[in-house]
Amino acid sequence: MSQIGRNHQGIGMTSQRTRDRLIDRLRQQGIDNEQVLEVMSHVPRHIFVDEALAHRAYEDTALPIGYGQTISQPYIVAQMTQLLLESGVPSSVLEIGTGCGYQTAILASIFPQVYSVERIEALYLQARQRLAELEFYNVQLRHTDGTAGWPNLSYHFDRIIMTAACTEIPEALAAQLKPGGVMVLPFDDGHDQTMMKITRSPEGLVSESLEKVVFVPLLPGLE
Ligand code: SAH
Repeated sequence: MSQIGRNHQGIGMTSQRTRDRLIDRLRQQGIDNEQVLEVMSHVPRHIFVDEALAHRAYEDTALPIGYGQTISQPYIVAQMTQLLLESGVPSSVLEIGTGCGYQTAILASIFPQVYSVERIEALYLQARQRLAELEFYNVQLRHTDGTAGWPNLSYHFDRIIMTAACTEIPEALAAQLKPGGVMVLPFDDGHDQTMMKITRSPEGLVSESLEKVVFVPLLPGLE
């Protein structure tokens, strides 16, 4: 997994001290998975946003990444990652919505195998370059519509995370979840968005509604 080089560590508003303050804040908000906190204290979020926004990278807010999309709020990244890890560290995870690649980098610092898809080509290309620069070698990215899941249908995943809000759970995606596997996603019922944790049990999919959230919508097709 990636060793973050000295030239990516940052200074001033992008320094280790600034990142540590964000970690304190995440703890206060109830993030208690030490592995998640440790990884988030090292992965440089400022590398994943435009240089003009780098000084705001360690605020606990979503930020624009272009193309009408946003990098998720750090608390949400931490919370979703923590939910994926509730029953140990599984080997594979599929992410729908690579965006800038920050959540992908957090996953790749924890999971042995990370797969991530993005529908906007420019974001996919940028994330690919950033993740390579930071030497994440355990990540496979694709420019594809994630409502159809990972393009190789014979692949199945221990965990699936969706970082855009869906109005129904894509069937093809749910079909790629292993038995006992867990999927975490923002669900939009037309009024509110709610974080859902869905488990594939022997009886079928079991869903649990968690907190209210705000995500950009899951959209069909490619850009
Ligand atoms: N984890 C990302 C979140 C970006 S916002 C980050 O922190 O940067 C959600 C992303 O999902 C956007 O980049 C959007 O283009 C992408 N997306 C939306 N619908 C999609 C789909 N059907 N397939 C793949 N990606 C999708």
